[in-house]
Amino acid sequence: MEKWTRRKFFLATLAGGVAASTKGLLGAAPGRKSTFAADALQQARTGGQGARPLIVSAANGIHHLDAGMAVLKGGGDTLDAVLAVVTKVEDDPNDDSVGYGGLPNEDGVVQLDACVMHGPTGRCGAVGAIEKIKNPSLVAKMMMEKTNHIFIVGAGAEKFAVDEGFQTMNLLTDRSRLAWLAWKAYTTENWRPGLDSPEWKEKMAELLDTSERMAWRGHIEDVVMHPRTGTINCVAVDAKGDISGTTTTSGLSWKISGRVGDSPIIGAGLFVDNEVGAAGSTGRGEENIKISGGHTIVEMMRQGKSPTDACLEALHRVARNYKAFPDRLKLFHLQFYAINKDGQYGAGSLWGMHPDGRRVQYAVHDGTQARLLPTTPLFDRKGGDY
Ligand code: ASP
Repeated sequence: MEKWTRRKFFLATLAGGVAASTKGLLGAAPGRKSTFAADALQQARTGGQGARPLIVSAANGIHHLDAGMAVLKGGGDTLDAVLAVVTKVEDDPNDDSVGYGGLPNEDGVVQLDACVMHGPTGRCGAVGAIEKIKNPSLVAKMMMEKTNHIFIVGAGAEKFAVDEGFQTMNLLTDRSRLAWLAWKAYTTENWRPGLDSPEWKEKMAELLDTSERMAWRGHIEDVVMHPRTGTINCVAVDAKGDISGTTTTSGLSWKISGRVGDSPIIGAGLFVDNEVGAAGSTGRGEENIKISGGHTIVEMMRQGKSPTDACLEALHRVARNYKAFPDRLKLFHLQFYAINKDGQYGAGSLWGMHPDGRRVQYAVHDGTQARLLPTTPLFDRKGGDY
């Protein structure tokens, strides 16, 4: 019970803080008075002008952007470049927000979502709630190339992948399975030791302290207290100005079976227009779907906004949806990433910091080296200065 009390306190504290930080902002243009936002905006505006080829991703792509850049520098296709990045994250069992090792749904089943858009041909493909296939981004590409459809979900998506030669496998790692069991123990009495158990008194602490689970204690506590969002979005423009993108995810952890977020939705989790640019997202998909974030950002860039300002405009629309409950904004995260045809780039986030205090970042490779940059936040997490 002690942990629940702490959680309630944690949420109540957040709610109080955010009400102050968002006061007065929701009707105004985004981010003008934040010193941090202004600095980051300046950096985004001056740091990323006209680099081609260019590849941008969520922060979890940082170790793989070299692979994507190698494709671009070798004259390869932009879609192959972004897939070279994200498939490595899908394959990584330690990334618990994407592909193999992704945190499962409430039934303990890993269901993955992904989409691709190929700018030069204006084509796209998507899969939702696919099980047992670790590279949904490649299934999305296959969907684009081999069918007259765009979006396939669930059992049909798995069958399509198997028919096309993809191997099935168990995507649930021990790490993710134990996190799921811990989440169940937190959320329902039935998955804790019973009233007649000698262990009953300690409940969750006992569960986490057994030697088998000790190694993951920190990780498990974290994912239970902060249900994971993650995902990787990756967008690229080559030397000629051709653009592609992909977004792939295991979605919101502990989701209802069959729930599909924004990641595979063309126009929300990703949008590419070869004449303009590309944009994608990570974070709470439900909020992005409501504003068609990817498409909104590309349209803003078409009208002349910089990638960063276009991302902030989309975030402002998300925030505006909470005008009646501004305190609730602090309960989720949302990030947008954007590039334009000239090789300018930027990223915006609802908040400047993760709940653990880490700065929200994104990854950029402009042909020289891959590096992490801070996103430009709509709200400074400390609040109060808007
Ligand atoms: N956007 C993803 C979704 O809502 C999750 C995430 O990025 O964390 O499914």
